[in-house]
Amino acid sequence: MALEDFKADALRCTRCSYCKWIPFDLVKSHDYAKGCPSVDYNKFHSYSAGGRLITMLSLMQGRSEVDDDVVDIAFKCQLCGNCDVACKVCRYDMEPLAGIKEFRRTLNEQGKVPAAFPKLIGNLRSAGNFAGLPQAARRGWTEGLGLKELAPGGAAAGAAAPVLFHAGCRYSFDPTLRSKVQAAAKVLTAGGLDFAVDPAEACCTGKAYDMGYRDDFAAGAKANLEKWAAAGVKTVVTPCATCFWTFKRLYPEVAAAAGLEVPEILHTTQMADRLLKAGALRPARRVSLSVTYHDPCHLGRQGEDYEAWDGKEVKIYGQAVVYDPPRPRYNGAGGVYDAPRDVLKAIPGIELIEMERSREAAWCCGAGGNVREAYPEFNAWTAGVRVEEAKSTGAEALVSACSGCEKNFAEAVAAAAAEGAPAGDLKIYDVLELLEQSL
Ligand code: SF4
Ligand code: SF4
Repeated sequence: MALEDFKADALRCTRCSYCKWIPFDLVKSHDYAKGCPSVDYNKFHSYSAGGRLITMLSLMQGRSEVDDDVVDIAFKCQLCGNCDVACKVCRYDMEPLAGIKEFRRTLNEQGKVPAAFPKLIGNLRSAGNFAGLPQAARRGWTEGLGLKELAPGGAAAGAAAPVLFHAGCRYSFDPTLRSKVQAAAKVLTAGGLDFAVDPAEACCTGKAYDMGYRDDFAAGAKANLEKWAAAGVKTVVTPCATCFWTFKRLYPEVAAAAGLEVPEILHTTQMADRLLKAGALRPARRVSLSVTYHDPCHLGRQGEDYEAWDGKEVKIYGQAVVYDPPRPRYNGAGGVYDAPRDVLKAIPGIELIEMERSREAAWCCGAGGNVREAYPEFNAWTAGVRVEEAKSTGAEALVSACSGCEKNFAEAVAAAAAEGAPAGDLKIYDVLELLEQSL
């Protein structure tokens, strides 16, 4: 794709601003009607999806040039996809989110990126992960769990591992998240699942894609796909929503180009849900807790199945643009919403209370689109808004299913506690942590 491929979208954008809100039929109150953290925080139209399309159009038509403000507009956005869902309520074939991503890739190719990016991508290139930590530290979370390991070199060097547990970088390296990934592995073990972990696990490289470093993404994806193929991996299960989205939505194109197959991709909540419904997991211990569930953007509205499209733009009647064949319509409807909720409902004693903005209308945790690293204040503000919303439900705990969300919320709750704000007493859990407590 190229920026020009989104020119028709930029021209067809009616400047209606619907993308700033959650779909109107899902609005329950004025307090939680907004959907776009970027425009709410920056308070300027250019920081909405429609504003970004206009900015792109202006560049394409040579009416403006890339300066620091344009870089800020392109990257100070979580790529959360709320705009994409809202826009498609009334516009069937516009792709504002894909357009913003292409905008970023174009600027990146010109060397125009936020100040934090060169160090981050340098870490991936030199250390194999964005944190820049030694790869050897990655397997620390598995200590004492007795998990089967994928042999070096895959199936050629050891037994095939049809199910691979991919922890993801943040869960692997961050000691504050260790208990969460360990709980996920314990739950799958308790359910009798035969799986292995990869002691040489590599980054999914999804963040590189969203930063606009597409070659780094593709190289990392291809290496993972080749390793999985050599090891006979049939299913990859991950507790990280971003890894899940990367494997499910981004890897198929790389796989097709390389003649490789993408294994079945499951989030740990989906695998646990399967085990529960098959009777392999029987939660019996009571966990007396009222909780509200936060849908990670990459598991919810962006967790839909990938659909290949190899069509073209066609102009009819000299003006109307259509796509032949029609483009796939990603509008969030097919995201993973029920599995985490069904797991929570299966735990005795858990009371689930929904936030006003949930499922495809969920407010982002703040971390997406590398905002956590590039714009820490915006990231913290967005997470703070979400923990306040969670607190407003009356729930004792905010539960999620992604390392980035859980990390951000823990920090936002700590900040609220320091200020003496009501959200300061919220507990933060991963869905499978609560399930593990009930076994
Ligand atoms: S991107 Fe879609 S929702 Fe936003 S202003 Fe344009 S047409 Fe309206
Ligand atoms: S992706 Fe999210 S933050 Fe970015 S423009 Fe869309 S709604 Fe706003």
